[in-house]
Amino acid sequence: MQTTNSHTLFNQAKQYIPGGVNSPVRAFRAVGGNPLFIKSAKGAYLYDEDGNSYIELINSWGPMVLGHAHELIENAVKEAVSSSLSFGAPTRKEVEMAELIVSMVPSVEKVRMVNSGTEACMSAIRLARGYTGREKIIKFEGCYHGHGDSFLIAAGSGAITMGVPDSPGVTKGVANDTLTAPYNDLEAVQTLIEANPKNIAAIIIEPVAGNMGLVLPKNGFLEVLRDLCTQHGILLIFDEVMTGFRLAKGGVQERFDIMPDLTTLGKIIGGGMPVGAYGGKKEIMDFVSPAGPVYQAGTLSGNPIAMSAGLAMLRHLNTQPEVYSQLESIGGKLVAGFKENLKKLGLNYTINHIGSMFSIFFTDQEVYDFETAKSSDTVLFGKYFQAMLKRGVYLAPSQYESLFLSTALTDEHIEKIVHANYESLEEIL
Ligand code: PLP
Repeated sequence: MQTTNSHTLFNQAKQYIPGGVNSPVRAFRAVGGNPLFIKSAKGAYLYDEDGNSYIELINSWGPMVLGHAHELIENAVKEAVSSSLSFGAPTRKEVEMAELIVSMVPSVEKVRMVNSGTEACMSAIRLARGYTGREKIIKFEGCYHGHGDSFLIAAGSGAITMGVPDSPGVTKGVANDTLTAPYNDLEAVQTLIEANPKNIAAIIIEPVAGNMGLVLPKNGFLEVLRDLCTQHGILLIFDEVMTGFRLAKGGVQERFDIMPDLTTLGKIIGGGMPVGAYGGKKEIMDFVSPAGPVYQAGTLSGNPIAMSAGLAMLRHLNTQPEVYSQLESIGGKLVAGFKENLKKLGLNYTINHIGSMFSIFFTDQEVYDFETAKSSDTVLFGKYFQAMLKRGVYLAPSQYESLFLSTALTDEHIEKIVHANYESLEEIL
């Protein structure tokens, strides 16, 4: 595989950009080798600067659920561009977007648009603090809610991949206000609540966690969390930045029928443009400025191009429910193929899976929290990543990420990926 152009670009990038990338995991640190510089993408394929093509299973870390350069979204953006790129004033599209989100996400009655998942999560906890008059939050080890200071405590995703789950630069004061519990551990949550009576504003959780690899909530875990929050006047925040509009039209809350007080959204909501949102009960959302006292703002929030891309995406998902059965079927077939390969090779690695998200962990332990996720052999993962790449399959370059499938994957692609998986596992053993 010829990657000279990517290599040259990376060396150039390192002179001007910290680590040569604008988001850490892209640097391939955890898997070795140099990152590929991508020139274009269409459907299920990425094309790099050296003319190589890859079937891809990340889809820009989630947003491209219909595959790349989908004509509906492309056309909506092209049309919007001709009316100027930004006004910094209210638009019809923002109203349409808010109305659509409220109609699709069951617990959301009002919503505020922002520019990223990070912003959505930061704003949601400020709102929770302002609304409850309390200071502390509980987050779960291995969950990632963006790079806001409060969340870089026992953080998953790039933070653990780079070896800094607790980032330098976060003050002790902020760190002290973030309490952490292992995922799926209700006893630990209960202990934290008892130790901090009437001082926990919110529990924030990825209701299906994708940032320590894919980790599913155990039966009853989210239900009891919901009850504990209600009982103690704590707001439950579902971070559905990854899972929203992916695991069901209305996200995990619809799939499992558990209603949070606040929800954060991102990724798919922008159709590939930089968009986030937070929403929830009217009574709580009306605490946000200018309706209420909790301040939050944004020069480019509700940007017309981003709204146009997002609206085209969400309208499609809202009116074509077969997208979700298609995603379930694609995920089911791929995972069945991978499991069959493991069986044929006599391997006992763990695969966690739900709908169009899955992870393979190089451990024979059940993976249900950060500690068990960390039992995976990350060196072996790196070799597996490179072996798959060599065979034209582009995976997330870290063990601590989920894969995200798109509807652009056909049976033929699935067959190729499963075959590459077999050969790669055989090669690295
Ligand atoms: N929340 C979750 C669950 C995420 O996976 C991410 C990013 O991957 C974020 C929040 C942060 O979103 P962004 O990268 O758009 O700031």
